[in-house]
Amino acid sequence: MTFHHDPGKTMIQLQHVTKFFGRADNSVRALDNVSLDVAPGEIFGVVGQSGAGKSTLIRTINMLERPDSGSIVVADRDLTALPVGQLREARRSIGMIFQHFNLLSSRTVRGNVELGLEIAGVGSKERSKRSSEILDLVGLGDKSGSYPSQLSGGQKQRVGIARALASKPSVLLSDEATSALDPETTRSILQLVKTINAELGLTVLLITHEMEVVKSICNSATLLENGRVVETGKLVDLISTTGSRLARDLFPLGPVEPRSGGTVIDITFSGGTADRPVISQLSRTHGLDVSILGAVIETIDGNQAGRTRLELPGSPGENDAAIADLRSQNLLVEVVT
Ligand code: ADP
Repeated sequence: MTFHHDPGKTMIQLQHVTKFFGRADNSVRALDNVSLDVAPGEIFGVVGQSGAGKSTLIRTINMLERPDSGSIVVADRDLTALPVGQLREARRSIGMIFQHFNLLSSRTVRGNVELGLEIAGVGSKERSKRSSEILDLVGLGDKSGSYPSQLSGGQKQRVGIARALASKPSVLLSDEATSALDPETTRSILQLVKTINAELGLTVLLITHEMEVVKSICNSATLLENGRVVETGKLVDLISTTGSRLARDLFPLGPVEPRSGGTVIDITFSGGTADRPVISQLSRTHGLDVSILGAVIETIDGNQAGRTRLELPGSPGENDAAIADLRSQNLLVEVVT
């Protein structure tokens, strides 16, 4: 079972999307000129504080909210330009999962998964074949006759995922899908999302307030603030971008606590620079006995990446020379104090 979309440039494209709520004299601009490109097969994370516009964004992508201006193209169809009938059809290429699962308690697991297919007029034999296949895929092959109340939170979300996959979408939208789950269940659901992304070639756009989710499965991310895109890009690029707030949130080193009044620097390592013996080099070449104030190392999108906070104990001139030397080796060095 594969749902591959012809490889194009983008799978989800938002151009200059603006959305207001309320009346003119008392309105909230929930989305302010948002433009985004999500490539086919990507797992794309949208992060931001509460009120940043994440829910509005995801609801706009499947046209549960109609934008006031701008366009939304999903799988080569401009949803903002479609008449209602065609929009309903186009929505079948977009599956969605929710924080609170939104399952029908009166229907069995199989009944929940097949609901959309019933509405779309798919025959019972085909429905049953498809739901069995998908329930196996999400690891619930033995639960098809159970009711939601008999399931754990993780199992309920698996049903939610199966229901979203039933119409063979090209895009999966995830609205805080792991926020109601404990850490271990969160990991297993994220792993499942990663598996269906890889096996079915499904493009995933997720909104979350948890950086851990972004760190563990996203290829790219966008930071929203007051309805605006503050930063966007592939994680591997963001982590080597000076001043990136997403990178700081991905690798939090906490507040700076200099000890000797020296210069505090953050060095970001990624890809080819991850295994440089920086500290011994500073000591050998520059005669500086650096202190390590903090360090985080992670695997981001399959690459080792991390950040180390060092205190250089030399005079300003000596420290500057050492920093220039590190930068000449393509290391990203940010001076903190
Ligand atoms: P997030 O999901 O990041 O918490 P939201 O998209 O829910 O942010 O909200 C963005 C802004 O739009 C907030 O100021 C919120 O109060 C406002 N908003 C969202 N939905 C509505 C609505 N249906 N009516 C009025 N204001 C809304």
